[in-house]
Amino acid sequence: MGVLKHYKELLPITPATPDVNLEEGCTPLIYLPRVSKRLGIKLYGKFEGCNPSGSFKDRGMVLAVAKALEEGKRAVICASTGNTSASAAAYAASQGIPCFVLLPAGKVALGKLAQALMYGAKVIAVKGNFDRALELAREGAEKTGCAMVNSVNPYRLIGQRSGAWEICDVLGKAPDWHAIPVGNAGNISAYWAGYNEYKKLGKINSLPRMMGFQAEGAAPLVFNKPCPNPETIATAIRIGNPVSAHLARAAVNESNGEFNSVTDEEILAAQKILAAEGGVFAEPASCAPLAGLIKLKGLNKLPEGITVTMILTGNGLKDPDTAMSQVGKPIEINDTLEDLMKVLESK
Ligand SMILES: *Cc1c(COP(=O)(O)O)cnc(C)c1O
Repeated sequence: MGVLKHYKELLPITPATPDVNLEEGCTPLIYLPRVSKRLGIKLYGKFEGCNPSGSFKDRGMVLAVAKALEEGKRAVICASTGNTSASAAAYAASQGIPCFVLLPAGKVALGKLAQALMYGAKVIAVKGNFDRALELAREGAEKTGCAMVNSVNPYRLIGQRSGAWEICDVLGKAPDWHAIPVGNAGNISAYWAGYNEYKKLGKINSLPRMMGFQAEGAAPLVFNKPCPNPETIATAIRIGNPVSAHLARAAVNESNGEFNSVTDEEILAAQKILAAEGGVFAEPASCAPLAGLIKLKGLNKLPEGITVTMILTGNGLKDPDTAMSQVGKPIEINDTLEDLMKVLESK
C-alpha cells in the first residue's frame, strides 16, 4: 500500500501532497525461534531489508520527497553512508527529478553504490568522512535550493515513525525492549516518537525500553562525546557526530533505556548467527543490536522471557564484500556423481 496511504491519518498529508509510492513499509516482523532460545527471550526481527531500496530509509524518504515536491522543490541532495543515497535516488527517479548524493570516498558498501548509480543519481565521492559530507550537502542545499533529504529534514523522521506503528499493529502491544542500531540517531528518535503517539491514541498501554547499539569505534552516544575519526566495518553507522543526538538521548532517558557499544568482531559474529540460526541476512550495522543482546546476556543483563523487537535496518545483500570475508568458499567438484557423493557423505 505504501507508507503515505497506509498511515495517511497520522502523517502531514494534504490534498496537495503528491502520491509518491514505491510500496515501502509493511515489512515482515519475523519471529526468530532459534535465536530466541539462545537468548532466553522472545525475539522478533523487523526486516527492513524488504523495503524497495533495501533499507528503512524508504519510510522517511517517501514523505521527504513528496513534501519537497509539494513545496515546489525540483531536485534533492543528501550526504550518505550509502542507504540514504540509495533511497533518495530511488524516489527521485520515480518522480523524474535530479538527485545529488555525497558519499565518503571508499567507505560505501558495494551494493549501495551500485544502487545510487543505477537509479541515475549524480554520485559525488567526498574525500572525507560522513560528517564532513553532511556539512557540505547542507551548504550545497542552501546555495542551490535543492531539498535536503538527510534526517535533518523533519519529514524523514515523521515517516520513519511508521515502523513503530507497524510493530504495534502486528504484536497488538509494544515490545518490552526495542533494540536498534544508532548512527545519526534519527531512527531511534523516530521509533520513540511513534510509540508515544500510539500510546496517546490508546493503541498501546505500555512503552518499550529503547536500547540503542553503536559500534565501538563510532560510539559518541555511549561515550558521551563526538568521535572525530569514526571507524567500523558497519559503514551505515560509521558516524562520529550524530545530528539527532539530543533526540536519541531523550528517547533513552525517558524510556529508561540504554546505549551500549559492540565491537566489529561481535557485530560480524551476530550477522552470522542471524543468518545461520535465523534465516535472515542483514547488513553489518543491522546486526549491532543482536550483538548487543548477546553481550548483555553474557553480562546477565538480559531479563528472561521478555519480548524484544530488533530493527534489521538494511539488507545483507548490500554489502557482499564484508559477508564474503567472513565465510568459506564454495566446495568445487568435477561434474561427476562420484565427486558429489564424496561431499554428501562427508560428516
Ligand atoms: C541509516 C542506517 C542506520 C542508522 O540509522 P540512524 O537513523 O542514522 O541512527 C543503521 N543501519 C542501517 C542499515 C542504515 O542504513
